[in-house]
Amino acid sequence: VVQAENVEKWFGPLQVLKGVSLSVRRGEVVVIVGPSGSGKTTFVRCINHLEKIQGGRILVNGHLIGYRQAGKRLVEDRERNIARQRRDIGMVFQRFNLFPHLTALGNIVEAPIQVRGIDRARAEAEGAALLKRVGLAEKADAYPAQLSGGQQQRVAIARALAMKPALMLFDEPTSALDPEMVGEVLEVMQELAREGMTMVVVTHEMGFAREVADRVVMMDGGQVVEEAPPALFFTAPRSERTRSFLARLL
Ligand code: ATP
Repeated sequence: VVQAENVEKWFGPLQVLKGVSLSVRRGEVVVIVGPSGSGKTTFVRCINHLEKIQGGRILVNGHLIGYRQAGKRLVEDRERNIARQRRDIGMVFQRFNLFPHLTALGNIVEAPIQVRGIDRARAEAEGAALLKRVGLAEKADAYPAQLSGGQQQRVAIARALAMKPALMLFDEPTSALDPEMVGEVLEVMQELAREGMTMVVVTHEMGFAREVADRVVMMDGGQVVEEAPPALFFTAPRSERTRSFLARLL
């Protein structure tokens, strides 16, 4: 589903991604870990073209993200094409970014109606089913301010799912939550993984990585320094940087 090759990203003079390659197969859950500032967030934002890349390329479902190849150069693609590609990718952020003036259900049906062009009755029926799936069937009419952080994040997940994405990106979805709400969000994500959703998850939750990931990817200094199934990653890391990262967490 995702094929990233040698991705390079600069913020001015600062090179944040130094040739990152990663591929994710259908149904696979890849968890990205690594120290603060290693480029994890930037990388997942590149997959969605929220950040433009300066080198390498990213394919999602076989389509080059945000660019056309013109000989050896990458030329930025048209907005409309980018918007179409983004429909296939659901993104969940650290901050839930719900529309404050819309109810939980209103948040979920907005994009399907506006972007997928389906009628309100059908969007609401699908939205209600999604709310049930994230354990919030009874909160359809609640506004974000009336929901806890964990509930808001579950609405944000349902909102992303409403576009029927081929891929879900999660950028530290539980970092902004009070500790007692982390579990309910991770449970919803685990259930999604079980149902076969293709997922890329940036997180500091090592328990989630260990239990849910098919593969754990360790980033440091803008590079992938290790990539392994969790059983190996946590017990027999090959890279010294992974070993010291894990040691610091314990
Ligand atoms: P964290 O776990 O703290 O979120 P991260 O691994 O996700 O870290 P990034 O957020 O991708 O790291 O940041 C990588 C580097 O890029 C950091 O040095 C950061 O300061 C820098 N950076 C990120 N966004 C920008 C920006 N918009 N402009 C300039 N520099 C940026």
